[in-house]
Amino acid sequence: MDSEQLREYGHQMVDFIADYYKSIESFSVLSQVKPGYLRELLPDAAPKHPESLQDVLNDVQQKIIPGVTHWQSPDYFAYYPSNSSTAGFLGEMLSAGFNIVGFSWVTSPAATELEVIVLDWLAKILKLPNEFLSSGQGGGVIQGTASEAILVVLLAARDKVLRKIGRNSLEKLVVYASDQTHSALQKACQIAGIYPENFRVLKADSSTNYALIPYQLHEAIINDLSSGFIPFFLCATVGTTSSAAVDPLSDLGKIAKANDIWFHVDAAYAGSACICPEYRHHIDGIEEATSFGMNAHKWLLTNFDCSLLWVKDRSALIQSLSTNPEFLKNKASQENTVVDFKDWQIPLGRRFRSLKLWMVLRLYGVENLQSYIRNHIKLAEQFMQLITSDPRFEVVAPRTFSLVCFRLVPPEGDQDNGYKLNYNLLDAVNTSGKIFISHTVLSGKYILRFAVGAPLTEESHVKAAWKVLQDQATILLRE
Ligand code: PLP
Repeated sequence: MDSEQLREYGHQMVDFIADYYKSIESFSVLSQVKPGYLRELLPDAAPKHPESLQDVLNDVQQKIIPGVTHWQSPDYFAYYPSNSSTAGFLGEMLSAGFNIVGFSWVTSPAATELEVIVLDWLAKILKLPNEFLSSGQGGGVIQGTASEAILVVLLAARDKVLRKIGRNSLEKLVVYASDQTHSALQKACQIAGIYPENFRVLKADSSTNYALIPYQLHEAIINDLSSGFIPFFLCATVGTTSSAAVDPLSDLGKIAKANDIWFHVDAAYAGSACICPEYRHHIDGIEEATSFGMNAHKWLLTNFDCSLLWVKDRSALIQSLSTNPEFLKNKASQENTVVDFKDWQIPLGRRFRSLKLWMVLRLYGVENLQSYIRNHIKLAEQFMQLITSDPRFEVVAPRTFSLVCFRLVPPEGDQDNGYKLNYNLLDAVNTSGKIFISHTVLSGKYILRFAVGAPLTEESHVKAAWKVLQDQATILLRE
């Protein structure tokens, strides 16, 4: 890299991105382009000769930005957030600048050691049990996504049990979760070779606010044991994807422990809220868990990707995922005095992602991060009050964090119980380009999701979003 060119281009690029953020509210939040739009705008082949950065940036402005959905817009309320911040962005820059590949300690000692330290820091902020700290048998690691985190712990759990009962027992292994668990678990089961018919998807409904019922788990395990199956993995969620439901960790964990089942807790979104003392109780019972995951890249101001995973027994991961080819052998690894994160993940290569989280923790400090979370939860409460002030709408699941699930109440005798009405409302608000929200289905009802969590969102944006929803509802109900 030519340092002078980097300096010049780097300034230009940072200015470009800063200008993007300055004008972010002028764009349609949800991109409105049609499939294949870009093919018509870009040449068929790569240029033979170099072009200027300015020409490329002009194309970004004119051709790429129209096809970007603006996750960082303050009017973004879809899915769950994917935060960026100056601190996270600077960490990302630093990581790109060093561009190391830190698979083993020796390939960049600072990358491994900072990751160990920062994950210990966050474990302490979350008040995770000491067994998750690197000082004992456990520790934390940064994965790309919560899906990867679930996959690696499932593999570790699978291999641990197969080592005990024999490799040809795979067909007997059973996985448990609720029907609100993220589809990442199903994918992990497919990859891990778990027999599809051995994935017990337990029904959660409005009677428990969509949380998994421990008794159902207990019954399912008893049934499976009596039929000769081997229960081995339970995934609970704190902050489910559809409605932010919280599974009862303590009770589930006790059942898992009694049956020697690996207990993973997926708090991809809501884990961030648990840095606040008043929300920490949502992970009470985490003492019973074998592993715990949360995405700092969702709601903790750390640019994507930065998914945090802690395990109590790192050797289970390592035994499942470690390889030791000649070309990677080195003194430190062989003396067994260091962590080699290549053995805690699927790929070999890994980026210096801990820099991002380190920058965020240092440039904000825990207190500011807590205020950040509290502010979003307050805005979600305000949005909920607006919903309840208009009898045409109803809130359909309790609000626990910064997600509000609601819908337009269907007229009496409506044939599909408001499905089409709310589908059309979603479509209308999202094609307006003014806000972006998403949907789910709960107990057969089509539900709209309003997730506060973009860093730039303020009260005025929430109020403006409510006005968009009300106006579109008025038009639809008139029709
Ligand atoms: N788990 C939960 C509870 C989620 O809400 C999500 C995504 O929203 C995931 C897992 C998947 O996250 P990732 O994209 O990091 O794999």
